[in-house]
Amino acid sequence: MSTVRKPITSKPPRTREKVLVILQEQCKECGLCVEFCPKKVLCFTDIYNRKGYHPVTACDIDACVNCEFCERICPDMAIFLANREEAQQAFKAGNLEEGTTIPEFEIKPPESKEKSK
Ligand code: SF4
Ligand code: SF4
Repeated sequence: MSTVRKPITSKPPRTREKVLVILQEQCKECGLCVEFCPKKVLCFTDIYNRKGYHPVTACDIDACVNCEFCERICPDMAIFLANREEAQQAFKAGNLEEGTTIPEFEIKPPESKEKSK
């Protein structure tokens, strides 16, 4: 017989208070955040930044748990968590510095099944 009591109420959906911000021009591709993110959220892009590195992005942003580990481990302060509302305002107003990405707000266009000739 299990000794673990079931919760009386169902678990509420988890919400992230903060959003992940990546300053891709500051990233030096050291890989620390990619390696040590406990939820394997991060990965490298194919693009080059001005320093000639492939900067980091989020390949699975929905898995982020706001633990801030990436922010603490990054030696170049290229990745951090920001207040959601403030970040959203800056994103909507286009007030982000060049190379700044907020994966949670970036909407990918639906892939077209028919390729134009
Ligand atoms: S906050 Fe934590 S879970 Fe989210 S990307 Fe950074 S290390 Fe990964
Ligand atoms: S720890 Fe910082 S510099 Fe290193 S890959 Fe991650 S974002 Fe780039």
